[in-house]
Parts: sequence; C-alpha cells; structure tokens
Amino acid sequence: PTGNAPEYLSRLNPEQRDAIETTDGPLLVLAGAGTGKTRVLTTRFAHILLSGRARPSQILAVTFTNKAAREMRERVSALLGEPAEGLWLGTFHALCARMLRRHAEYVGLTSSFTILDTDDQLRLLKQVLEPYRIDTKRWPPQGIMGVIQRWKDRGLVPDAITAAEDTDFANGRCAEIYADYQTRLKQINACDFGDLMLHMTEIMRKHPAVLEQYHRYFRYILVDEYQDTNTIQYLWLRLLAHRAGQPSNICCVGDDDQSIYSWRGAEVENILRFERDFPGARVVRLERNYRSTRQILGAASGLIAHNEERLGKTLHPGREDAEGEKVRVISVQDSDDEARMVGAEIERLRGDGHAMSEIAILVRAGFQTRAFEERLITLGLPYRVVGGLRFYERAEIRDAIAYMRVVSQPSDDLAFERIINVPRRGVGATGLQKLHMHARERQMPLTAAVLEMLATGEIKGRAKEQLTALMQALATAREQAGREGHVVAIDNLLEASGYVEMWKADKSPDAPGRIENLKELVRSLADYENLGGFLEHVALVMDTEAKAGDDSMSIMTLHGAKGLEFDTVFLPGWEEGVFPSQRTLDEGGLKGLEEERRLAYVGITRARRLAIISHAANRLIYGSWQSAIPSRFVEELPAEHIESRGDSTSSRRNFLGRPAVFGSSPFPLVAARRVHDVTPAAATTPGMKVGVRVFHQKFGYGTITSVEGNRLEVAFEKAGPKRVIDKFVKQV
Ligand code: ATP
Ligand code: MG
Repeated sequence: PTGNAPEYLSRLNPEQRDAIETTDGPLLVLAGAGTGKTRVLTTRFAHILLSGRARPSQILAVTFTNKAAREMRERVSALLGEPAEGLWLGTFHALCARMLRRHAEYVGLTSSFTILDTDDQLRLLKQVLEPYRIDTKRWPPQGIMGVIQRWKDRGLVPDAITAAEDTDFANGRCAEIYADYQTRLKQINACDFGDLMLHMTEIMRKHPAVLEQYHRYFRYILVDEYQDTNTIQYLWLRLLAHRAGQPSNICCVGDDDQSIYSWRGAEVENILRFERDFPGARVVRLERNYRSTRQILGAASGLIAHNEERLGKTLHPGREDAEGEKVRVISVQDSDDEARMVGAEIERLRGDGHAMSEIAILVRAGFQTRAFEERLITLGLPYRVVGGLRFYERAEIRDAIAYMRVVSQPSDDLAFERIINVPRRGVGATGLQKLHMHARERQMPLTAAVLEMLATGEIKGRAKEQLTALMQALATAREQAGREGHVVAIDNLLEASGYVEMWKADKSPDAPGRIENLKELVRSLADYENLGGFLEHVALVMDTEAKAGDDSMSIMTLHGAKGLEFDTVFLPGWEEGVFPSQRTLDEGGLKGLEEERRLAYVGITRARRLAIISHAANRLIYGSWQSAIPSRFVEELPAEHIESRGDSTSSRRNFLGRPAVFGSSPFPLVAARRVHDVTPAAATTPGMKVGVRVFHQKFGYGTITSVEGNRLEVAFEKAGPKRVIDKFVKQV
C-alpha cells in the first residue's frame, strides 16, 4: 500500500510501516541491531500525532539514555516540522521524577523533594548504620547500598523483604537498615534514584484514582531497548499499560541479543513474555539492517550465533550497495602499540576527510581509555569521553596524583588536604581546622604542622596512629623514589597508605574498575624518568583536556554505546581477561560469557562502514611482560568476513617469523603465546648485560640471562626465570 501514503512512511520498508501503522493494540518489535527499531518508534510517535490520534502530551515514550531522549525529541520535531513541546519523553527515571512531583504527598514527601546523588546516598546510609555497630570492614556501606538498590530494582519495599531474602549481608539485618534508610529519606524530604520508580509504582498500585488519571492521559506508550528493563520498570509499565476494558496501545522494541544490563537487574525475560503479558499482542520482526555493510553484519551475526540462549533472528543487509570492507583484526604488541595504531588510523581517516564525530573507540573497561587519551592528546586530535570522566578526572586518579604531589612536594597543601582523610584517618573538621591554625601561625606547610602536632601530642587517639603511619609511608616513598625508582615507590605508597585497601574493601560495583584504573596509572608511571616528569605531564594534559569541540571523536564503554552508530568503530583490547572480562572468566558461568558476547555484538554493530578490532600480544603487569591470549570472540568471528594482520603500520617492532596475514584460521593460541619471537628494537639501558646481578621489586634478586632490546630475561633467585623490562630492575 504505497500510493498516497505520507512522505515520512514511504521511505520505510513494509514491515517497518506495518509496525508504525498498527497503532492500536499491543505490539512488540523484535529485531536485530540496526534494523530501524528506534526509527520505527520515532516515526510511530510522529505518525500518531500527524494522523490526529493523540495530542503530544498523550504519548508516553521511554528511552534508555538522556542522549537518546534528546535525539528522539529532535527526530520527532523534524518530522513534525516544529519544535515538540510538553512531551512525556525521557528515561524511566526522568519520567518518574516528573510524575512523583505531582503525587509526592502520597509517600510522605513534598513536591520539592531532593533527588540524592550517589555520594549523598552513601553519607545518609552511613548515618543510618551508626547505631547498628556493624563491622564495616566486613560489611562495607557500599555493599549494603548495593543490596538495597537491587531490592528496589525488583520492586521490593522494606515490608516485602522476607527473611529468606535477607541472609547474605550484614548478619541478616539489611531489611531493618533498608527500612530505617527509607525513614531517614522521608525525614529530609529526599529520595534516591531507585525510589523514583519504586514510589511511583507504589502510588499507582495503592491509589486507583492516580492510576486512572494516567490511563486517561496516556493513550499510547512507546518503549525503546525493552530487553534491558528491570523488574520495577516492567511493573511500572504494566500498570500504565493495562487499561481496563480497552486495548493497551503499548509498543515495545528490543533485541534479546543486545541485553547487556543484567548486572543492573535487567530481565531479558520481560521481552520473552510480552505476548503473555499483553494478550492479542502482535509481534513484528524486522530483518533488514540499514546501518552496516554486509561484511560487518556477517562478522557480527557469526559471532552472536555462538550464544545458545537466544531467540534467533535473521539479519540481511538492507543497503544493496554496501558490501563494504572486511572487519579488520589487528594484532599489536602491547597497549602502547595499540594506541599508536589507532592514532595512526584516525589521522589517516581525518586526512581522507572523514568527520571526527563519526569515529568512536569502544572499550570494555574504563581503565583502557588512558592509553588512547594520551595518544590523541599527543597527536592533537580532539576527543571526548562520553558517559564518563576522562582518565585524569576520575576521583581515584586525582587522589593518587595528590599522594604523588605530596611525595614530590611536601608543601603542597592542596594535595595534602585532599588525602589526609582518604582513606578515613579520624581527622574531623575540627582537627583539620586546628591543623590549619597551627600551620598558619608558624607559616609552615600542613605536613610539617602534622609532624609537630604529633610530636607535641596535640594529635591523639586513632588520628595519631593513622597520621603517624601516613607520614611514615610518605617519607618511605620519598626515599624509595630516589633509591629504587618512582614506580616502585608509588606502587608501595598506594598500598602502605591504605588507599588501595580502601577500594578493595568497597563492595560497590564501580570499585573494581577504580582499582584497575589505579593499576593502569602505576603502569603508566614507567614511561617517565621520574615523578616530577610525570606530574608535569599530567598538569599539561589536564590543561589541554578542556578543549573538545563539536567535531570530536568519542571514547566510551561498550555499555554506553548501545543504540548509537558511527562510520568507523575501533574495538581494542579483545584479549581474554579484558574482553571477556577477568571477572566473567573467574565466575565461569555460561550466562556471564554470553552477556559478554552480546556486548561484543553490540560493539561491532555500532559501525556503519568499518570496524577495527585489535588485541595485544603482551601486557605489562607489575613491570613484567605477560603474554595475552586473543579473546575467544576473535576466534569466533567467521573467517570470510575478517581480515587479520599483525600491525605493520605504526609499530616500531615487528613479528619475526610470522606472516603479515594469518590466513583463514585467525590466531591459533600458540601464535599469541610466542612472546619469545618478539624482537624489540627499543634502546637498551647501558649496563644491562648477561650475567649482571639485578634487583626487582616483586621478584627480588636475580641474574640476567638474556637481553633483547629493553626486555630482559632474568633468573631470579626465588621467583625463577622471568621476562621483565629493564626499567623495572636495578643493577646491584
Ligand atoms: P539498535 O538495535 O542498534 O538500537 P535500531 O534497530 O534501533 O538499532 P536504528 O538506529 O533505528 O536501528 O536504525 C539504524 C540506521 O538505519 C539508522 O541510521 C536509520 O536511520 C537507518 N534506517 C532505518 N530504517 C531505514 C530504511 N527503511 N531505509 C533507510 N535507512 C533506514
Ligand atoms: Mg535503537
């Protein structure tokens, strides 16, 4: 049925049009990446308005991110030909916040309630915890917060927590704590993120009049990325969609292969039971992918076929013209090489006139961004880190740098103030004030004031013990930096000061990532002659960082890239232990691995034109090279859609005895383990010769048995033979 169809429909394929024109009754669009699900949703929004079925305020549209909401608003405006105002369009949280302002009194709040951020939440929880006298080493507040949040994700109010639910944490007192925390929130007229959904769902459940009002209001409901809704979001949607005696005009779009948020409570089952939840539902499948080339699709489809738990969908290339280039799989030496390779490719793309905004680097974990950021800064290429902080802006990195600044410059009061009570050392606001007074009166830096006040006994109790330890750790670091090098010194300091320990005890989901970032920071120290050189570099980097303009390329995590598209996508770090992550490997379950594979699928399918996957053969861990194994996902890519090669473009070294192209079976494991085939051409430190006795921080004393450039093989007296980099050993 073409003919006199409106223009905005004529550009779509019959299945897409079907999904748009079936306005009434429940509808599920279940389709693979890039098949136009989001486009269908947007066009459906416009179609409902343009065909006079509803006014803008009568449509409820849920997106997964604020960015997606903005994009949809723009697309709808473009289709309407005028700015779209007053829409109920946004993320679950944004929509709930807006609703809750109107009904806050039902849950004991006023309409001006505050929404707490994560820091505030934790501070409040700590107050609540005080009378419980819980061993916070064993049960850190962050962990308890996590338990409460998961309960909220599942729609459980304190009363609904059964004893069976509440066993694994804080001696089974979590439910009590949860109840107290909720009471405290009410007392200060606040709610946290999880409450937005929980409160609104409770209100609609208990107050039929409120629910009826929304039923009258919202004639149409649209939901993007349905596969990643959690239980509370699902309950909220069901309440709104089930109108007595009338069909539910709810349209959800999703892809089970892109379900990547189970760690935040998402339930892919929600999509699987749509037809049961909404009797009479239609299911539309879209099979043409308009985003990517045939080669990219072939690679992505071949990869995801390795998952067992999936509904199974067909995906055909929708653009007849787009055969495209094969997905490149590039083997590099190490992460520096990887960054060089990516940097060189980006420069080439830019030289060829490609827009920077059409390029993205998608990483598995936050710590991976550093090497790329450094390289892009060196090359003067504008970039932004989307959905996260740039490496040097992250709290743990700033803290660690503050520690280093105090080592390098004991009178750096700003840095010292940042770390004096991080981790907690019993220095309160009054204590800090006294310290400042002492320092001001005698015109001395804070560190000197601490030493004096420790000596005179003015600092007492826990603070005395803790600050003595801190001052000692700082002094040791200063001395070690001169004797054994700054890398060892800082590595030790971060441990000895209790800083790393603080994050290890932290059970919140982002803590492991922070520890990885700290390790990466320590690794990167080795690139500098001394601490001063490193700190100067950081100061300069921080300065240039502010200047990302519109035509910047993006660096972001794979999770953050869902729903987005770019011409060129770099996918670095495809090694076992990075991607799939070490945590997934340690847990060992099939579920976790399949979720990682879906994440890989999301990554590849972000690319329109070219996807470049890379993996390093070696990774530097605590100053010793360890061989890395290419990700199993690399091997699962169908050979006919990929082109593998060792990196010959940017590397200062090359493989010996390995052809540049590895043929149809990419990277048998042995190839990657052949670290010994590597001939590094980097300069050798004078004196590092066979037979020389050396000392290494982790491995102790040993004798050099072979030298290849800057890589040494050392027979350690206790640790046995190891390969290390010359910088990390001292001649003795
Ligand atoms: P994802 O699963 O990654 O969220 P999606 O299914 O939501 O993908 P869209 O982002 O809506 O897919 O569409 C992918 C690309 O294909 C977009 O650039 C969109 O404009 C384009 N597209 C969708 N349908 C058509 C069509 N019928 N003709 C041409 N281009 C289309
Ligand atoms: Mg989409």
